[in-house]
Amino acid sequence: MDNCIFCMIAGHTLDARVVYEDDLVLAFDDITPQAPVHTLIIPKCHYADMSDNVPPAVMTALFTAVPKVAALKGVDTTGYRVIVNNGRDASQSVAHLHVHLLGGRSMSHGMVSFG
Ligand code: 5GP
Ligand code: ZN
Repeated sequence: MDNCIFCMIAGHTLDARVVYEDDLVLAFDDITPQAPVHTLIIPKCHYADMSDNVPPAVMTALFTAVPKVAALKGVDTTGYRVIVNNGRDASQSVAHLHVHLLGGRSMSHGMVSFG
């Protein structure tokens, strides 16, 4: 999709620190990290959010990548938080579906995103 920064990163026309890539998904470090490890996992094709008719294979690929990325970033044994800010009420700021993986520090219990 034109003018979508995550489509540009997926197409390698916008630079990012890529952590993991397969046929369906790409993982790269967040530009404004909220924890020592803050990596985003996106489908390579454009879906606005989880309610945008995402094919089951893409959904599977996204979440199958989570533990792989956690291991690559060295937080698989210490734990990590997985967040999807989905839509307006969740304050999603980039309208290309993405999974946040945060780790490397202790995070409080509760519903506070990134907290
Ligand atoms: P959201 O608020 O939509 O859940 O999260 C969007 C995330 O994308 C934010 O954490 C923000 O820092 C990150 N982000 C926005 N633009 C860029 C960019 O150009 N490159 C990278 N690597 N991350 C970005
Ligand atoms: Zn996109």
